[in-house]
Amino acid sequence: MAKKQFKSESKRLLDLMINSIYTHKEIFLREIISNASDAIDKLCFISLTDDKLGMTRSDFKITLKADKENRTLTITDNGIGMDKDDLENNLGTIASSGSYRFKQDMAEKPDEIDIIGQFGVGFYSAFMVAKKITVNTKKYGSDVAYCWQSSGVDGYTIKEIEKDSIGTEIILEMKDNTDEENYDQFLEQYKIQELVKKYSDYIRYPIEMDMKHSRVKEETKDSDKPEYEDYTETETLNSMIPIWQRPKKDVTQEEYDKFYSEKFMTMDKPLHTIVTSVEGVVTYKALLFIPSSTPYDYYTKEYKKGLQLYSSGVLITDNCEELVPEHFRFVKGIVDTADLSLNISREMLQHDRHLLTIAQNIEKKIKNELTAMLNNERENYEKFFAAFGRQLKYGVVSDYGMHKEELQDLLMFYSSTEKKLVTLSEYVDRMKEEQKFIYYATGDSIAAIDALPQTELLRSKGYEILYCTEETDEFTFQTLMQYKDKKFCSAANDDLGIENDEESKEDEKDSSALLTFVKETLGDKVSEVTASKKLVSHPVCLTAKGGISFEMEKYFNSVQPGSGMKAQRVLELNMNHPAVKAMENLVQTDIDKAKKYAEVLYYQALLIAGLPIENPSEYTDLVCSLM
Ligand code: ADP
Ligand code: MG
Repeated sequence: MAKKQFKSESKRLLDLMINSIYTHKEIFLREIISNASDAIDKLCFISLTDDKLGMTRSDFKITLKADKENRTLTITDNGIGMDKDDLENNLGTIASSGSYRFKQDMAEKPDEIDIIGQFGVGFYSAFMVAKKITVNTKKYGSDVAYCWQSSGVDGYTIKEIEKDSIGTEIILEMKDNTDEENYDQFLEQYKIQELVKKYSDYIRYPIEMDMKHSRVKEETKDSDKPEYEDYTETETLNSMIPIWQRPKKDVTQEEYDKFYSEKFMTMDKPLHTIVTSVEGVVTYKALLFIPSSTPYDYYTKEYKKGLQLYSSGVLITDNCEELVPEHFRFVKGIVDTADLSLNISREMLQHDRHLLTIAQNIEKKIKNELTAMLNNERENYEKFFAAFGRQLKYGVVSDYGMHKEELQDLLMFYSSTEKKLVTLSEYVDRMKEEQKFIYYATGDSIAAIDALPQTELLRSKGYEILYCTEETDEFTFQTLMQYKDKKFCSAANDDLGIENDEESKEDEKDSSALLTFVKETLGDKVSEVTASKKLVSHPVCLTAKGGISFEMEKYFNSVQPGSGMKAQRVLELNMNHPAVKAMENLVQTDIDKAKKYAEVLYYQALLIAGLPIENPSEYTDLVCSLM
């Protein structure tokens, strides 16, 4: 029998097809099964108008059979089959897709067919694992059956054979194992099962295989030494209807929970489930989950963001990063759409404008769901915020604040007056009429901030203060700059925007001599000494002047020791405090003692601000000398 040459321009193309297009050999099964599914779709479509066929939808199936002895994997379908021309045109010609033509021919009714094939190369992926491929097939409406055979680049043969049933049987004779690749694995039932689950779980027709199991022999069930026997059972490997294709009202939360934990291999239940189905410029379905806790590797490089992407029920990518923005990277889930321009290997997407639209829609959807949760399920939202609030703050700060408008209303901070987490909008709604700024204070913990002397005046005025206990908090405010036209102001700022009354201006004048004395005593340690407007019961505090706060100083010095980042220190004195008054009196009577007082007060201010004292023993000596 004369061998025919492949019809493509060059054999190199086939070589390329086999060796270069795909990154994973295992996808061959996805491609062969997709073709079988397409073939069944076509026959199904014809059966709608032809009742001679005598088949109903439930008769259609795909069967897998692994024969370890002969090292073959056989994929059988009862779809439309191929005649001699089809074999020549579709399998003998690389990059010729019978499926694509079929779809074109049926163009008046495109909605009724949802066929996977389009490029005419998937079939050849089987040569990545098989040294020889045999296709036995009989086309619907034809009396003759054919066998197509090929071992790769050499070409193929076609001959007539006997075959009763309509449909196609593809026999892959596996390559011999090499040092790098174990081809035997594709004959193992667990591996085949795994690949079907992974890539072809939502193929609409059952994918069946005889599965070998072992069980205790009935008659030895109650004995001390139970004996085992093997048995075989035909099982359907795929789930067929994806949960996201079912109407939301027909699916219970338990089913969604189960899907979530199986798909993403977690014990957790999702905190929130988002089901969405969009038809329009792009048509897609998405099933998204917000996890109930922070994954252990969330803030490491190991964590991969992204959604699974399906096209017509077939998995395209496990982790399509483009589908979720960085600030919502905690969202897990899947997107299914037929509207993508896939590249030839169907592994990667071209930069696709549909994908971009879907990603934008999804971002909006997540934002809306979170907002609704915040408004209607506060307790749940707080749980969410505990797990991923930090991510949202990073989101505000990153990309030069590009996303701040989108994210600002999702943020929460601990409030001094409410003693719980509040939103910025709640804060602004409660602001006093004369209050100029949104105030915040930074510290290591809520208790530490509670004790900060800087906040005394704000508290005495009844102003609410937002607490920054995470290092991102202050950066968040600095990036936001303002919210609803109200600027943010740190309690440690030298200007709190509170009008001082005449009386205190008087004080300031009176105190200038003392302030100069203290500044001269401390020298370069502080850049300024002022009469405080914010202290009530404490004698001193340190505030930062200019752009760098103490928290930033601490942060930068911890991530980059020796960076020399230093906040400008302003020492504020409470002129009405007995300790300050005592110092003032000493200036006249005992100037050396007055200097020691000034030093001690400075050290105290450092301690309260949580800043290190460079020479602790100097400080203790000083205190002792005064005692
Ligand atoms: P594609 O699926 O993108 O069209 P393939 O290389 O996977 O490309 O398949 C080429 C063509 O071969 C298909 O379009 C189809 O016409 C035909 N074909 C492949 N497998 C089968 C099958 N099991 N039954 C019927 N036709 C098939
Ligand atoms: Mg195909």
